[in-house]
Amino acid sequence: SPVREENEDFGAVIFITDVTEKEMAEQMRREFSANVSHELKTPLTSIMGYAEIMNQGIAKTEDVPRFAGKIHFEASRLLALIQDIIRLSRLDEMDMSEAGEPVDLKTLSGQVCSDLKEKARKQKIDLVITGDSLVIQGLRSTLYEMLYNLVDNAIVYNKPQGQVTIATGKDYNVPTVTVSDTGIGIPEEYQDRIFERFYRVDKSHSRETGGTGLGLSIVKHGALVHKASVQLKSTPGEGSTFTIRFDQA
Ligand code: ADP
Repeated sequence: SPVREENEDFGAVIFITDVTEKEMAEQMRREFSANVSHELKTPLTSIMGYAEIMNQGIAKTEDVPRFAGKIHFEASRLLALIQDIIRLSRLDEMDMSEAGEPVDLKTLSGQVCSDLKEKARKQKIDLVITGDSLVIQGLRSTLYEMLYNLVDNAIVYNKPQGQVTIATGKDYNVPTVTVSDTGIGIPEEYQDRIFERFYRVDKSHSRETGGTGLGLSIVKHGALVHKASVQLKSTPGEGSTFTIRFDQA
């Protein structure tokens, strides 16, 4: 806009807005929709295929149980994916100032381990809980989902006879919970990216084991809601350690 005085221009006012953040948010939304559509389409196509063969009566009788099993597996994947998407959108909408309640992270770790005990046993993984009772102010169901996803990953990406340790404690008076495993580890170049929605280091391994690619995004967003941070230390071939620090709890 020109700045005038007595019909004479003597200056200009320039208004500049930085739209980088807005553009990035829009791009992320576009990518997310494209990814969701793709992730939903893959299992649905497979379900349609098997159902059609069975419906037309061209499936051999001995193949029917296997096809039904595949339909069940793909449908479970779809359900897990939709549940994770709902969890993420709830976290997106959550008010950061939600009051929460006193939650003992050690008791919560016990619940998570008990719910994942069967999965760990099948993969011959030892679950260990150490540390003292640690009460923070937080949202119990969100904290449960965060710990569940970390321990679930620590089992899935482990090696046979491996171990998963959940430790609660304080680091310079900051409440922390650490989930460490003796698994395959994560190469340095992927360590930032694995927190992105749908990012997987090994796509086929994650899909085979029923992973949605959203677990760590839920952990990251859950941490944000609690004004906590998530740190990762990992050595390929040796294992990974995820630490949630409740800096401002
Ligand atoms: P997924 O459903 O694929 O497990 P996540 O968001 O939970 O999705 O994790 C993203 C990716 O990060 C995984 O596909 C895997 O490659 C890697 N990852 C997560 N946790 C671990 C771990 N404890 N050890 C090794 N790799 C891991």
